[in-house]
Amino acid sequence: MHVRRKLVAGNWKMNGSLGQLSELQPIAEAAKAAGGVDVAICPPFTLIAPAVTRSGGLMIGAQDCHAEESGAHTGATSAAMIKEAGGRMAIVGHSERRAEQQESDAAVRAKAQRALRHGLVTIVCVGESAIDRAAGDHLPVVGRQVAESLPDGWEDGELVIAYEPIWAIGTGKVATAADIAEMHTAIRADLVRRYGDTGMRLRILYGGSVKADNAAEIFAVADVDGALVGGASLTAAQFVPIIEAASKS
Ligand code: PEP
Repeated sequence: MHVRRKLVAGNWKMNGSLGQLSELQPIAEAAKAAGGVDVAICPPFTLIAPAVTRSGGLMIGAQDCHAEESGAHTGATSAAMIKEAGGRMAIVGHSERRAEQQESDAAVRAKAQRALRHGLVTIVCVGESAIDRAAGDHLPVVGRQVAESLPDGWEDGELVIAYEPIWAIGTGKVATAADIAEMHTAIRADLVRRYGDTGMRLRILYGGSVKADNAAEIFAVADVDGALVGGASLTAAQFVPIIEAASKS
């Protein structure tokens, strides 16, 4: 029996400010009071260091990291830099980056390898488009992303997978419990086939319009080990009930 502690990670995307870091303290206090759940916030790069000093013990992370150690990559941020700023997590392969920066599965995998090598909790995002789902191709599409975006072996860090149907991100549309169960079961089977017993220990998050009013139902689904939360992670008022739902599940 593998008991996987739930992880609730907030992705602030290109939102936030120094002033908004005041949200961290009440989130950290609520996370401690709820207990039994890991909580992280991934603000924009410029806010990582100040967020760490005001985190109240929350895990702070980044929304991306470069695949290379250092070098001539204007505008990029390395895993080492994230760590030096106090970050302990990196999200890679978010669908917005896959679309806007044309990141391939191979590029995502290289980023994940680098982040893991630096000991970061590394969330690799996968998810199908509305067109894939309407065509009934969601399982093979996500299966291919899982096969090609995940690294083969890692000694440091922690690999986490986030299933985020693109059509559910920021839209208010949530996958049904049955759809989430189908996908998470398929991902778990892939992980076990590939990594053996380790595949049972990896956490699989759901992401896509998770809110206070749907979190409990989502966390009750088998093989859902937490959530990656966008919009509702921006304020303690919206994020704390999601943490509490994870803690009770
Ligand atoms: C996300 O961007 O990872 C996400 C899940 O966003 P939202 O919760 O706003 O749908």
